[in-house]
Amino acid sequence: MGDKVWILGVPLSPVTLAASLHQLSQWLKEDKTRLIFTPNAEIISMAQDNPALKHALVAADLTVPDGIGVIWAARQFGTPLPERVPGIELLEQLLALAAEENYTVYFLGGRPGVAAEAARRLQLRYENLTVAGFHHGYFDPQAEQQVLAQIAAVKPDILAVALGAPKQELWLTRWAGKLPVKIALGVGGSLDVIAGQVKRAPLIWQRLGLEWLYRMVTDRRRLKRFWHLPRFVGLVYKTKHQAHDLNV
Ligand code: UDP
Repeated sequence: MGDKVWILGVPLSPVTLAASLHQLSQWLKEDKTRLIFTPNAEIISMAQDNPALKHALVAADLTVPDGIGVIWAARQFGTPLPERVPGIELLEQLLALAAEENYTVYFLGGRPGVAAEAARRLQLRYENLTVAGFHHGYFDPQAEQQVLAQIAAVKPDILAVALGAPKQELWLTRWAGKLPVKIALGVGGSLDVIAGQVKRAPLIWQRLGLEWLYRMVTDRRRLKRFWHLPRFVGLVYKTKHQAHDLNV
């Protein structure tokens, strides 16, 4: 992997989907916990006001550029990233690899029933996939200890956490290193998609780089987060021009 590309204080790994998967497959052979996040424009905007989130992203082992906004911003700064790596595609390919090579996975997050349904569907899709366990993402501090004990007991190779940003990044940064897992990754709303609760944008929207717009108009909860996107664009322009002014 080359040097990370920095966007508004957040590092992005300059990787393709294939390269990220290759890296994860190497890490699965090692006895160490690796943290993987999938920053997009919204998460990078959130990190501007949330130092703990920014720190979590800086400390991660791999941060894949999830979204067209990040690709656009990297180009603005003259440090292009190779391609968009949607978190859900990385997760699905990682699970296909896990099924092939006998790695186990634990799903944490989503409303009650979602992780279970995602696990059921994934086991139909990838016949040999071993789901070591799952738990919904609405637990109180007392239940948290039980969740941690359960994960520690089943020792999954892969821990996929869908608590939404910034919760999943902060939760994983706090706990992943204390758990016997090799790959710990934040997967946002992926379990909802896999469980059939939420649909991904049609392929044409994805190809046009408009998946974010599709999600915004089909999921009303996201509307209140919309302002992160114009703010991200504004901050990128501002930073770019400041850098330009300093150079002349
Ligand atoms: N979630 C959760 N616990 C919480 C808050 C959120 O398990 O306390 C789940 C929520 O049910 C959803 C996911 O986290 O499955 C976040 O989804 P969102 O679409 O917001 O994430 P994104 O893909 O935008 O990161």
